[in-house]
Amino acid sequence: MESVRLLYVSKIARVDSGLKQNLINILDEAIDFNYRNGVTGVLYYGHGYFVQCLEGNKNIIDDLFYNRIVKDERHINCEILYYAENQTCLFSQWTMKFSPINKKISEFFMQYHLEAFNPYLLTDETTEKFISILACEPEYHVNEFVA
Ligand code: FAD
Repeated sequence: MESVRLLYVSKIARVDSGLKQNLINILDEAIDFNYRNGVTGVLYYGHGYFVQCLEGNKNIIDDLFYNRIVKDERHINCEILYYAENQTCLFSQWTMKFSPINKKISEFFMQYHLEAFNPYLLTDETTEKFISILACEPEYHVNEFVA
């Protein structure tokens, strides 16, 4: 069955002291469901924005995105920036890798979009470049992340 890659951006609904625990909960839910359903990917967080790349069976990814993730009140303004049939899995080792904002990503945004990190600015051209960077990012544990 057809495999797809989807990348969307969203904004966190509330930035408060519960951010780290929220991220832990989201990742726990993601890893559990994704592992059981052959979904892989990365969840990137920085400056109040989420960027998530999901790879897997088309029906499962569509159902996960439209029936669970979009309806989740922990974030708002989900916008798909990339959706395509997928031949090569970039995130096959990760049921959901977590990556926080870092210098490399900030430099990428400054170079192409003249702003430190605003994923809504990604274009058709820069989205694919950004996905390649995400694939090379090391994995972090949320506990290493300081908001
Ligand atoms: P239930 O747990 O039955 O909840 C019902 C509804 O409430 C759902 O719409 C759910 O989205 C929402 N919800 C659940 N918990 C909360 C909460 N604490 N606060 C507000 N609303 C809540 N899930 C995955 O399986 N894989 C992923 O890769 C994945 N990535 C995510 C990325 C982001 C940025 C976010 C915010 C969530 C992500 N989730 C992911 C979680 C997903 O949105 C669902 O919460 C989860 O799959 C449970 O879905 P459910 O239908 O069983 O919801």
